[in-house]
Amino acid sequence: MSTYTVDVYAFFVNGAFPNINIHRIKQDITNANNVWKGCVKFVIKGLYFSKNKIVNAASIPADKVFRNRQIESLIESVRNATGNKVGIYVLYLSGDYLAEGRGKRVIGVGGTELVHFKKSMDYELFGHVLLTDKADGRYTLAHEFGHVLFNRYDITQHRFIHDDPSGPYFNSQIGKTDFAHSNNRKNLMFPISPSVNPMVTSQQCQLAKSSKIVRIQNHNIDEDYDLRKIN
Ligand SMILES: [Zn+2]
Repeated sequence: MSTYTVDVYAFFVNGAFPNINIHRIKQDITNANNVWKGCVKFVIKGLYFSKNKIVNAASIPADKVFRNRQIESLIESVRNATGNKVGIYVLYLSGDYLAEGRGKRVIGVGGTELVHFKKSMDYELFGHVLLTDKADGRYTLAHEFGHVLFNRYDITQHRFIHDDPSGPYFNSQIGKTDFAHSNNRKNLMFPISPSVNPMVTSQQCQLAKSSKIVRIQNHNIDEDYDLRKIN
């Protein structure tokens, strides 16, 4: 039977001790794998620790975070360490919330970056996610993984979209339709992901499996990962 896997690389710039961070990402990955069980499996491939770099989430506006120079350079350093492998790159920041931008009290953000694009079915992406300390113990990483895996090129619209097939979410307070999120509060992709047993639908699972970031493997999965310090 084939397994759909996603390689995960994490860089900790939150100032916590390495053993605490290892425990934390293992918990996040366990939570993500529980939610996405029978669909995709997330596998830790590399854990990177900074000697002395601490990045405070409050210094990063929650708006265009991946266009922020500091964030871009951190992701680039992990990409260099992995040799630009396809996967999802997760940055663990210090502090509770990102600075106000797109939203208030943001504890996680996820998206993708295009590496190259030849044609509608032939392109390469990698995923990136930011998490704050407040995302600890929640399903935030599992939710951000959803945003990453839903990102795809849409042939009819001739552009990249990341619509959630269980969406859209309708925000009645501001009267806005949000195509990236689910309207079902029990669903993982509800704007504020449920804190117990979030569910994903079979349409969400099918879409996630079709992501360019997913690898299809027919053999046992190697659970060994790279562990090192980078600057
Ligand atoms: Zn979201």
